[in-house]
Amino acid sequence: MGLSVTDKLKAGTRIVVASHNPGKVWEINQLIAPYGLDAISAGDLGLIEPEETEPTFAGNAKLKAVAASQGSGLPALADDSGLEVECLGGAPGIYSARWAGPGKDFAVAMRKVGEEITARHGWAAPGPRANFISVLCLAWPDGETQIFTGKVFGHLVWPPRGGNGFGYDPMFVADGETQTYGEMEPAQKYANSHRTRAFAAFKAQCLDHIEQRAQVAVAGRDIVALRAAAASLSTQTEAAQFIARLGTDVSKNGQDLGHLSLDAYLTAVAARLEATTSSDAPAWRKVAQALLEASGKPTTS
Ligand code: IMP
Repeated sequence: MGLSVTDKLKAGTRIVVASHNPGKVWEINQLIAPYGLDAISAGDLGLIEPEETEPTFAGNAKLKAVAASQGSGLPALADDSGLEVECLGGAPGIYSARWAGPGKDFAVAMRKVGEEITARHGWAAPGPRANFISVLCLAWPDGETQIFTGKVFGHLVWPPRGGNGFGYDPMFVADGETQTYGEMEPAQKYANSHRTRAFAAFKAQCLDHIEQRAQVAVAGRDIVALRAAAASLSTQTEAAQFIARLGTDVSKNGQDLGHLSLDAYLTAVAARLEATTSSDAPAWRKVAQALLEASGKPTTS
């Protein structure tokens, strides 16, 4: 407790991801785990998500991050994002999710954008200017906050094209591209997306100074990163990926469990599972944590 911005982030710091969306927590964990940081979701800590009442993306990201940090005594990271259409005065903007209605139907949201543009501007080539924006806020328990912004500019098309991605992806073409985000492979979108750019700004300011330390950690078993990965997984697919990563880690570090026979290892896994206190954590996460912790005495970073 008592962490302040001057402490900076270091390997082993636990960060609250101010979201109840497991996808976002997973995405952020992927970014920070290699630095030995450990992400835990606001949902897992039982923190309540505040209502987004501010008029700006930065205001809403800050409101969520501050609430999670004050509620936990830990640094907290929150994001807010959306689509801004120039000829609509920046709409849907902070209301991007709300334009999809209670059913969260983005066909409805895209039709609404399409109709507003038809009514006010028309669809003359190459299409109206728009940008995606992502704002990240890191809040510290002493009340300090840092804001990181990423934007991607482009134009909109009508009708929407492609079934990949989410939200407004099928109607957005980034500058220099011909495909919509809905037509692109996700990796191509994320190579340069607004979210990637906001993360890059966060990484440059908050993570790069610990790069060296993380590199030292991967020379041995990086237990902090493995624990962070195990602690954030939820699904069967993520569990399979984690087990593959655990296998690679064990073999890469010459730890063939020689100190443990297979039956002793399995007995240790079973004992750890039995000792796991009941919680709402997904069963796959509990299994992954037992497999990791039973796999010996890794070198801590
Ligand atoms: P929030 O940041 O979770 O509040 O979500 C904001 C909304 O902005 C999402 O529900 C989407 O509608 C939209 N949005 C944000 N990022 C993207 C993106 O990368 N593609 C498409 N839509 C997005």
